[in-house]
Amino acid sequence: MVKNILSIVLAIFLLIPVAFFCGAARAQESKKKHHLPTLKTDTIKAPAFRFRTVVIDAGHGGKDPGAHGAYAKEKNVALAIAKKLKIVLQQQLPTLHVVMTRSTDNFVELHRRDEIAAENKGDLFISIHCNSSPQKVSSDHGVLLLVYGYHRKEEQLEAIQENSAVYLEKDYQKKYSGYGANDAINTIVLSAFQQKFRKQCIRFADLVNKEFKNTDGRYSLGVREQGVLVLQQSAMPAVLIETGYINNPKDEEYLSSDDGQDAIVQSITRAVKKYKTELETQP
Ligand SMILES: [Zn+2]
Repeated sequence: MVKNILSIVLAIFLLIPVAFFCGAARAQESKKKHHLPTLKTDTIKAPAFRFRTVVIDAGHGGKDPGAHGAYAKEKNVALAIAKKLKIVLQQQLPTLHVVMTRSTDNFVELHRRDEIAAENKGDLFISIHCNSSPQKVSSDHGVLLLVYGYHRKEEQLEAIQENSAVYLEKDYQKKYSGYGANDAINTIVLSAFQQKFRKQCIRFADLVNKEFKNTDGRYSLGVREQGVLVLQQSAMPAVLIETGYINNPKDEEYLSSDDGQDAIVQSITRAVKKYKTELETQP
């Protein structure tokens, strides 16, 4: 009896591949008969990546003025550059969707900025800011590109300064669980950064940096990986551009002028174009 059952099971197992093979052979035969086109597998390629949406984030705004110089406020400079950037990107890349996290002088919470970016399925998040030094008049000057990275001790002050807007939000402790003044380092280190975007962030930051340096002749502090909350929560490659030191008289003049703002916008636009082409033509 057991032997019989075993023979039946064995027969079924042997018959399945045979039936499958016969079926496949019949299908092939029927294709030949009816001249059905055969799919050439070597011509099937994965759809190319389309770079569709850029999110421009003008730093600070409303009750959060950011840093200031002798006369200029960071929130206004950032908004002016962001608005110009939107116009130029749309002129030069008409198919690109450009979204702004704010287009007026209003206070947008940091988590909301990232939500806007995510809702619009951004491919790149560009946050526009101005740097400042603790002195009233800064001798420091130049541009700096920040991408989110694991925290290092010497960068703590700068990062906290840049993230200080979070404390203006009513229930920040709930929203940014664990992100407090005393444990900023821990939280930033512990927070999970999407590593897959890291290389792309650095690449874009590098392209912008080169444009600032080589085309506009700006002094640059380079590209740094740093714990910045608006970048930390971003669900896409994100770069924060410190466009200059607002409390350095020369930088302040440059940042407040149409010529300076236009040069910054053109440089970022050239970098976006190169970055887009690179991503879309990657094998
Ligand atoms: Zn800022």
